[in-house]
Amino acid sequence: MLTDHFRPQSFNGIDDIVIVGGGLAGLFCALKLAPRPVTILAAAPIGYGASSAWAQGGIAAAMSKGDTFDKHVADTVAAGAGIVDEKMTRMMVAEGPARIHDLLEFGVPFDRDLEGKLMLSREAAHSERRIVRVKGDMAGKSIMEALIAAVRNTPSIRVIEGYVVEELVREGRFISGVVARPDAGQSKSRVSFPARAVVLCSGGVGHLYAVTTNPWEACGQGVGMAARAGAIIADPEFVQFHPTAIDIGKDPAPLATEALRGDGAILINAEGRRFMLDIHPDGELAPRDIVSRGVFAEVQAGRGAFLDCTKAVGRHFPDMFPTVYASCMAAGIDPVSQPIPVVPAVHYHMGGVLTDGEGRTSIDGLWAAGEVTSTGVHGANRTSIDGLWAAGEVTSTGVHGANRLASNSLLEAVVFAARIAENIKGSLPAPKLTSWGDNAGENDDPVTVEDSPPFKLLRQLMSDCVGVVRTRESLTRAIQGITRLERANKRLRFANIATTAKLIAVAALQRTESRGGHFRADCPGERPDWQRRTYLTLAQAERLAVEVAESEPA
Ligand SMILES: Cc1cc2nc3c(=O)[nH]c(=O)nc-3n(C[C@H](O)[C@H](O)[C@H](O)COP(=O)(O)OP(=O)(O)OC[C@H]3O[C@@H](n4cnc5c(N)ncnc54)[C@H](O)[C@@H]3O)c2cc1C
Repeated sequence: MLTDHFRPQSFNGIDDIVIVGGGLAGLFCALKLAPRPVTILAAAPIGYGASSAWAQGGIAAAMSKGDTFDKHVADTVAAGAGIVDEKMTRMMVAEGPARIHDLLEFGVPFDRDLEGKLMLSREAAHSERRIVRVKGDMAGKSIMEALIAAVRNTPSIRVIEGYVVEELVREGRFISGVVARPDAGQSKSRVSFPARAVVLCSGGVGHLYAVTTNPWEACGQGVGMAARAGAIIADPEFVQFHPTAIDIGKDPAPLATEALRGDGAILINAEGRRFMLDIHPDGELAPRDIVSRGVFAEVQAGRGAFLDCTKAVGRHFPDMFPTVYASCMAAGIDPVSQPIPVVPAVHYHMGGVLTDGEGRTSIDGLWAAGEVTSTGVHGANRTSIDGLWAAGEVTSTGVHGANRLASNSLLEAVVFAARIAENIKGSLPAPKLTSWGDNAGENDDPVTVEDSPPFKLLRQLMSDCVGVVRTRESLTRAIQGITRLERANKRLRFANIATTAKLIAVAALQRTESRGGHFRADCPGERPDWQRRTYLTLAQAERLAVEVAESEPA
């Protein structure tokens, strides 16, 4: 589906800048690049198929009286369980207020107090009030509406919707464009988009799992295609589960925002027993991974888990949390008077395509002096992939460490998208002069990969074996299962998805400790020798997967 403003933007048949993804990171980057010609390719119409539109909490920025950048950095570092990149975090935090002002200029109606000042709320693990919101739980929807309107009014941005990008085209150390499949990936043929710069903003990995709060478009295609093009992937094992997805059999599962627990809602089991206080002194406001494991244990034990908001929120529910209220009522649950059934669901990926402060990606195999290992990047110079930048959830900038601090992800998306725009303006690589044909090969049956039996099997495998609680045995089974599915299904889009699943499982198997979002029942504590980030190339993951597939019993 093409929007009405499909305008000629190319130089000698080459698009100037192609952005893959129309969520917050992609739209913000395009607006910041204006008036440079930009083409946004999005798998779904913009506003749909993006986690950004579903964000309920808001954006964190140190803007209140008494708050400081140091405090925001300290909270982020504490949440990240020992492996946050402090330099990157400081940069992100310091640029937060300016990006909030940008969003205000684009027309985002953030909540204000009676004096007209921005209203800042508190969220778990933030030591100060620093979350800017819109009407309680409408932040994502409102931000996206404002940015979509701005994009539609910007003549230099062309939006092509329903194009699923399947491949980044690499020539040496250069990414020279992308290949996409139209009609929401259903078309028999593919279209190539040669470009002078590609910015990958394709979101997260939630839909790699059977229970998730993410839209299906967030199934790790971006990480997979970047890894297949040679990019280094960082920290893939760190997957954040949201403890309170609403358990009403919907896929994706609607979210009961953390703000409910911030406002005093409690977690109980079917016997009415409040269980989190037995596990952590902060009870329901303990870090997300701990609450997720608490809820998971109750569900596994058959006692179920419920978020009881009847006393803390009660009759104010419809006004304070309209989105959650609507989800509950649609399932016949009135949260004003009834506890909400909840389960942990995959919510956010801390890992992703390794990027530097300018959003530049790094390449496998072309190191100036040294090599990449799973334990670190060795060598004098990290070589970037010319022509490929990445922003938003698809990346691993290092600011989330092993566990994301709530509301820092929208902040990360806008800060690094703006940095990329600046960087691209200053340093575009020379244009490639070849223009590709319209039909880019790899044509096959227009099968919806995402509804296919292998994809469903993969999702179940990931939930069962690479979920809230992992073991060596479960991860071995996952790697073997992914390898089998990959061998039987050669489609490119499936390969991208399975690649991401494999990177997550392999990194989780290698990390023989528990930290943040990665919990190993067979290695329950943190280990000082593992207090470091993971850097993995696809070649390394493949080698390990083959070893596991061949050496361990199935
Ligand atoms: C329910 C929910 C609530 C959340 N609440 C908050 C919150 O309150 N605060 C916070 O900071 N974070 C929150 N998060 C996380 C946050 O929303 C995301 O991390 C952030 O929006 C990611 O932005 P993005 O632009 O990187 O990705 P997205 O917004 O997911 O956009 C990705 C885009 O890429 C497109 N795409 C994907 N694959 C392809 C492909 N192969 N080809 C073409 N296009 C593709 C998608 O269709 C989409 O347009 C929440 C997430 C969820 C799911």
